[in-house]
Amino acid sequence: MKFGRPFSQPKVTSVIRNDLHIHSAKSLCGLHSLMEIVEIAANKRMRSVNICDHGNAAGKKIDFSVITNKNRCPGKIISSKGTAISVLAGIEANILDIDGNSDFPTERITAFDLVSAGFHSSASALATSQSVEKNMRALKNYLKRYPLDILTHPCITTFPLDNSQLVKLALKYGFALEVNNTNLRLGKTDVERLQDMIQRAQDGGAILCENSDGHTFMEIGENEQIVALLKEMRLNGNDCFINRDDKQLDDFLKRRKKIRSTF
Ligand SMILES: [Zn+2]
Ligand SMILES: [Zn+2]
Repeated sequence: MKFGRPFSQPKVTSVIRNDLHIHSAKSLCGLHSLMEIVEIAANKRMRSVNICDHGNAAGKKIDFSVITNKNRCPGKIISSKGTAISVLAGIEANILDIDGNSDFPTERITAFDLVSAGFHSSASALATSQSVEKNMRALKNYLKRYPLDILTHPCITTFPLDNSQLVKLALKYGFALEVNNTNLRLGKTDVERLQDMIQRAQDGGAILCENSDGHTFMEIGENEQIVALLKEMRLNGNDCFINRDDKQLDDFLKRRKKIRSTF
């Protein structure tokens, strides 16, 4: 007698080689430890993982001092089967209000390998207002005060943004716009707005990245929703996403860290 799998794993069409948005169990919403994430990444034949736990406004106080210290947490960790996985020290900070306040720990500005930020329920006044104008003001004010390498899930339904202004800001500040697989899977994305953003970013030369926003082993490294979306748009993801090209990504990481050192 054959036993079926106890869960339905999504059909893997490809994998995100360099997944720049993964939550560990340090975030309230993440399931896995750092070492489990390394094992998952090695099993899926990924190259790098960005550990991108939520800023403290999300409800759990996280100490970022260990993961950002390369003497205590190296940039490469070997899995139990001997595969080296690059481990980036990241954060997903919160854009909290119209003034652009954030929980980004400024004292670690150069210690992070990547600084991501996005709108979450912690920005409750903005979530209630559903105002494009207020959200854009919040983002602009954040950018004047804090660093940003990746804007996470810019097309989430709860925080509408203006794509034309968004692409201009991405070009001005050099941050990447994220296409988020798990939010697509969970129906949290305004798909029409996302397609429009991808097209505008492609036309204007703004940087895009594809990330899982994985909280579980079923989500980490997965991009099946993004692959389907691009197919519908007749786009080749290899031309779209900076994290599909190791060299381009490594240059981006170096560039962003240098910019943060002069912030
Ligand atoms: Zn998020
Ligand atoms: Zn996230």
